[in-house]
Amino acid sequence: MTRISTDPDNAISRNLAGIRAAIAAAATEAGRDPAGVALVAVSKVQPEERVRAALAAGHLLYGENRVQEAQKRWGSLKAEFPAVRLHLIGPLQTNKAADAVALFDAIETVDRPKLARALAVEMEKQGRRPDCLIQVNTGEEPQKAGVMPADLPELLAICREGCGLPVAGLMCIPPVDENPALHFALLAELAARSDLKVLSMGMSGDYETAIRHGATHVRVGSAIFGERVRPEA
Ligand SMILES: *Cc1c(COP(=O)(O)O)cnc(C)c1O
Repeated sequence: MTRISTDPDNAISRNLAGIRAAIAAAATEAGRDPAGVALVAVSKVQPEERVRAALAAGHLLYGENRVQEAQKRWGSLKAEFPAVRLHLIGPLQTNKAADAVALFDAIETVDRPKLARALAVEMEKQGRRPDCLIQVNTGEEPQKAGVMPADLPELLAICREGCGLPVAGLMCIPPVDENPALHFALLAELAARSDLKVLSMGMSGDYETAIRHGATHVRVGSAIFGERVRPEA
């Protein structure tokens, strides 16, 4: 059987190998088990051949930031690669909660009670329980998604006791113009206080720093796939 290569220079396969090695080195250096850091390959707005190249290289964990775009891409690809796991890493509107629960294995952007309730209703209806992470607005940026750090305990109580959501941990996106290490440290501290184990933090430019601060999931896009072809809205 001939297969046309989707990654003729093996660029994506090499990028993945390089990042896995850097993850392992950063974890070891921090006295952590490299197996405790998962690489979420952020495939949003990347052309399908690049995603297929990563799949061909054996990568199974992907992040998407939009429900509809993810449905379009992964509806058929997931049938072809049933072991694929998907994380939602972008803002979620309440009216897309049903689709998100149906498609994703983790929802990293729970940030308000109304959304928590909508997710709980859908999980009950569908009998599916994707892991939930609470997105924290560590930089307290007014325009950004995520719960303010001071409001985290209340939201967490609503998610856990009020809604029975499977809350696994926290996620953050530090402000672009600040030292991310401070934000990673804050997120780790907030998680420890609430006995949460999962920390999704770190992107292409700072995932090694995030691992030093305890990241269990790093979300890496452009360093794997190259620059995104379409600018984001
Ligand atoms: C796009 C995106 C990423 C990946 O960003 P890169 O800099 O390309 O690695 C990570 N997390 C979130 C929430 C994103 O939207």
